[in-house]
Amino acid sequence: MALVVCKFGGSSVADAASIRRVARRVVYLQQAGNQVVVVVSAMGDTTDELLDLAAQVSPKEPPTPRELDILLSSGERISMALLAMAIGDLGYRAQAFTGPQAGLLTDNSYGDARITEVQPERISQSLAGGNVAIVAGFQGFHPDSFDTTTLGRGGSDTTAVALAHALDASVCEIYTDVDGVFTADPRVVPAARPIQSITYEEMLELAAHGAKILHLRAVEYARRHGVKLHVRSSFSTIPGTIVADQEGTEMEQSVITGLATDQSRAKITAVGVPDRPGIAAEMFEAIAAAGINVDMVVQNVSVTGTGKTDISFTINQGEVARLQPVLAELQRTMGFANVQFNEAIGTISVVGAGVRSNPGVAARVFGALRDEGINIDMISASEVRISVVIDSADLQAAAQAIHRAFELDREGGEAIIYAGTGR
Ligand code: ASP
Ligand code: MG
Repeated sequence: MALVVCKFGGSSVADAASIRRVARRVVYLQQAGNQVVVVVSAMGDTTDELLDLAAQVSPKEPPTPRELDILLSSGERISMALLAMAIGDLGYRAQAFTGPQAGLLTDNSYGDARITEVQPERISQSLAGGNVAIVAGFQGFHPDSFDTTTLGRGGSDTTAVALAHALDASVCEIYTDVDGVFTADPRVVPAARPIQSITYEEMLELAAHGAKILHLRAVEYARRHGVKLHVRSSFSTIPGTIVADQEGTEMEQSVITGLATDQSRAKITAVGVPDRPGIAAEMFEAIAAAGINVDMVVQNVSVTGTGKTDISFTINQGEVARLQPVLAELQRTMGFANVQFNEAIGTISVVGAGVRSNPGVAARVFGALRDEGINIDMISASEVRISVVIDSADLQAAAQAIHRAFELDREGGEAIIYAGTGR
């Protein structure tokens, strides 16, 4: 008998009727001869609503991370209990488990905890007893303190992958509100097409650069342990996307597999930095010491005669407030002129194994932007990716132009978004 782990996202369990629909789908899977473990997200926009509530009761101080995690973990617990009841109502057996009960051990970084170990014995017992096992996603516990922790936004995907690995499942199915992984976010590029199969490497690049369809940590975990992912809609029976190691097998015909857009970054420029050895090390060591992740870095050629240069980089917008005092201190010690912050930027990343082997990819991206009259602010690249930073107001037009330039547009019709507010 095959063991299948499936995960249903928030828009798939948004209300009672949706939960009953998921229950029928799960029972169908079990009746087809599988042992089924279901991981659920919080209903609809519950996690955002809980965050809003926390901000309302604590307007002066940010809520303590420990209490915030207890609060946020409750969203997934509502879904797990209701889904178990809905399956019971259909005449089948289901048991609900919180993340800690399911044996998900984590480190103690509240709000962004990493899974350190999975002890899925209770889940195995539940399955052996003929139950569907329902697990609250996005949470675990720290074994020293027994505190509940959460895995970061979108973390239910990671719960599912970790359980699939620990239980040696044949596949980890991620059910969502669109028909799989698309060549672009269909909310940004309506002509986007579903991708049949994609490698872990490409999926990692897309997830790391703004594609929200899968949690980055989930893809990392799946790649490390070879867990096959199947991303598909809970609203249709369309086959969806397989994420696995497919090196050497037949891939999509296009040069690039897809593109990701990201509006969550900010661009920081330190102006008039003395151009001498060690300066970049000093700056980025201080930023790293504050626990802030930097992705793109560009250093300009220093202005002749002045010996000064500008250094620009991008970080998550949410970390700008934490970066400000770090940069103010660096400005004092290193003596640069000023710091500019720009949150009105957007990033587009084109991704595909073909980037490596096709010299024209960058030129095609830049050409598409030129034809739209869109200015490029920063550029970065990896073996399988080329990213550009542009004005956020141009993001949608730019993404559509690049998508078209690589002949990724679907013929006729638009991608279907079955549910979800995109919040
Ligand atoms: N409910 C959590 C979130 O919105 C976790 C998840 O959905 O995966 O981020
Ligand atoms: Mg998600």
